[in-house]
Formats: sequence, structure tokens, C-alpha cells
Amino acid sequence: MFTNIGNKIRTLAKVLCIIGIVLAALSGLIMMISGISMLGYSYTAGAGVALIFGGIVSAALGALLAWVGSFVLYGYGQLIHSVQQIEKKVLGDEYQDFDKQPGVSPFSGMNNAAPAAPVAPVAPVQPIQPAQPEQPAAPEQPAQPEQSDVKVCPKCNCANAPTATFCVGCGNRLD
Ligand SMILES: [Zn+2]
Repeated sequence: MFTNIGNKIRTLAKVLCIIGIVLAALSGLIMMISGISMLGYSYTAGAGVALIFGGIVSAALGALLAWVGSFVLYGYGQLIHSVQQIEKKVLGDEYQDFDKQPGVSPFSGMNNAAPAAPVAPVAPVQPIQPAQPEQPAAPEQPAQPEQSDVKVCPKCNCANAPTATFCVGCGNRLD
């Protein structure tokens, strides 16, 4: 019954405006007609003329007043209509018409809702560092052949037996 009350008020404003204009026009017309009828008699002719002009003025003024007066009512209806549109947009699916849920404000859900506790920023979980692979043990240096095992010729770098007296490569004397 009261759904879309904003539109109903706007319609009411239009209807009242039209009724006001019609009534003003009718009363003005009656004044003019009676004024015209008074023109026939010389002793009422002056009053008749005044009545005709009065009728025209009152019709115009009455229509103007009805029109201007409806502004307020129309504006009120427009305001309610706009607020309802905003409500529907803001609430979306939660929007409930007063007519369907008497006594329940569409905002009750919002008002009763406990204010959302500020969510403490969760410290980012430190990714577990993959275990550093064990540094491979330095490869054992291959055992250098004992210098005493060979006699390297200082002249040609040839390896000679430790007991050799002369180099097998160049014949140089080894000490
Ligand atoms: Zn040699």
C-alpha cells in the first residue's frame, strides 16, 4: 500500500496541482460569467466589468498558486524517491521495503552489526629457508708424488728415477 511512496507523493502533487488549476479556472469563469450577466444592466455594468477582470486575475493567480504549491509536495516525493533509489543501490539484496517488513528499518541490519574489528595485519610468514646444502668438502688434493720418488731434470724437466745419475731425456747430469 505504501510501496514506492515517493512516486505516490509525486503523483499526488501532480493531481493536486491539476485540481487546483481547474478549480481556479472554474471560479474565475463563474466570476466572469456573472460579471458578463451584470453588463446588461447599466447600474451594475461597472461591477460586472470589475468582476470579469477579477475572474481572470483570480483564475491566473489560483492556477499559479496551485502550481507553485505543488512544488513543495512534488519535491518531497522526489526526495523520498531518490533516497529509496540510493537505499536500493547501497543495500543491494539486503534492501527490504517497509511495506514487506513492517517495523524493520532497511538499515537495522547495518546498525545492529557489530563494528568489524580491525583486522590485525598478519605478519607475513617467513618462508622456511631451504637448508643450505653442505658445502662439499674441498676435494682432497691429489697426493703430490713425492719429490724424492723422481729426479726432475732442471734442464728438460724430464722425470728420472731417483737413482738416475744422468737424465734420460737430455743426458744432463743429475745431482
Ligand atoms: Zn734432461
